[in-house]
Amino acid sequence: MSTAIGVVVTQHIVAGRLHDLQLTGELLRYAAGTEQLDDLASIPPGELVGILADQIATLANAESNPIDAIGVAVPGIVRYDIVEDSPNLTQLKGMHLGEELTRVLAERGITAPVHISNDADCIAAGVAATRGQLEKLTRVWTIGNGLGYGRWPYVDGIWEGGHITVSLDPKERFCGCGGIGHLEGIMGYRAMRLRFLDLEPEEVFANAREGDARCREFVDLWHRALAAGTASFIHLAGPGRFYLTGHNVGFVDLQLLHSHLETMVRLSPLQSFSLEVLPPDDGTALLGAGVSALRTLST
Ligand SMILES: [Zn+2]
Repeated sequence: MSTAIGVVVTQHIVAGRLHDLQLTGELLRYAAGTEQLDDLASIPPGELVGILADQIATLANAESNPIDAIGVAVPGIVRYDIVEDSPNLTQLKGMHLGEELTRVLAERGITAPVHISNDADCIAAGVAATRGQLEKLTRVWTIGNGLGYGRWPYVDGIWEGGHITVSLDPKERFCGCGGIGHLEGIMGYRAMRLRFLDLEPEEVFANAREGDARCREFVDLWHRALAAGTASFIHLAGPGRFYLTGHNVGFVDLQLLHSHLETMVRLSPLQSFSLEVLPPDDGTALLGAGVSALRTLST
């Protein structure tokens, strides 16, 4: 028996209550209905912690049974409950978010331990929990404005898979981090807009389907880049299933991706990889945030 609260902070904030790893009751949403990318990015850090605490308190006080753990998923490099970097929520950079949130919650009488995790890692944890495979290696690509790489079980490290180098071309310079040749610099939404100043990414993919040569070439590069990143992780940690999700997962052509991956992974013990698309769903990351927090309690 366990009760946890999971919170996901991305472009918006979603929070929910988990009982024995099942969502119970309504999800709470902040900034519901507004799709402004920089909504949350413009909120001062102290205020953001206050909003999180409000949501957690509302859920904690909704029922009488005590909360065992509180898990929060945020984008960026997160280690030991500290947000070391967060390019899309820059106000969190360097913040001891776990400590801060624990302090603000204590003022409201909530003393359950708080655990902060990377959002893509939370999706991996949520997928593993949903599939009943918490003991298996689960890897996830989140395809959106940036490129996220998540894995479960958690292993200490940086794991910024979206910034893996997939090209030696010095002209590949569109990554949000400023690095040359990065996966996100080819696949990220922001990067695609910088590359095609005359077309939106949706138009690039639509034109490619209609046979436009420049767009087709790029869509092929986009899939080869993802195949290269995936192949690198297969060569490091082994084959298995990779899940693809995120706001722009609709751009993925699984067959094309698979065919490129086959050309890159030739060692027979590594060829038992598989790919699966998951529709983006806050509930998965929210569940994973709770799972990660509960798992931290028991280790
Ligand atoms: Zn980068």
